[in-house]
Amino acid sequence: MDSMETPTPKPMPPQKPAELALPPELLAAQEQMAKVQCAFCRKMVDKGDKFCRYCGKEVGKVPFRFTHAGAAGMFLVIGPLNLFWIWRSPVMSRNTKIFYTFFYLSLTVMVLIPVVKSLKAIIDLYSGALSGNL
Ligand SMILES: [Zn+2]
Repeated sequence: MDSMETPTPKPMPPQKPAELALPPELLAAQEQMAKVQCAFCRKMVDKGDKFCRYCGKEVGKVPFRFTHAGAAGMFLVIGPLNLFWIWRSPVMSRNTKIFYTFFYLSLTVMVLIPVVKSLKAIIDLYSGALSGNL
């Protein structure tokens, strides 16, 4: 009973920062105010909008040329020039873009080697025929 110890003060409970304790309806309102980039015209539009206020295209929709299937389809038509749209794509991550760059460039080389070889064979054939030693 005759203790000389002073009672240790109780530590104060840490105070919650006010900005972490937003009511859910306010958080929902904040979510509504968030901006997203229109994939067609690249302008910032409200996340809640259904259609882009600048170009009228559907918000959240992605042009085919920016998708994975679009990249593959365009490679068949324009070859490695499809990398132009791959790097502008809003739906592909940076790592995906780097991967596709290596993928489509090596695919280009693999296609070019037999093409160059056969061209060389044709040239050899014709030059051989012209000099008369077939
Ligand atoms: Zn737009």
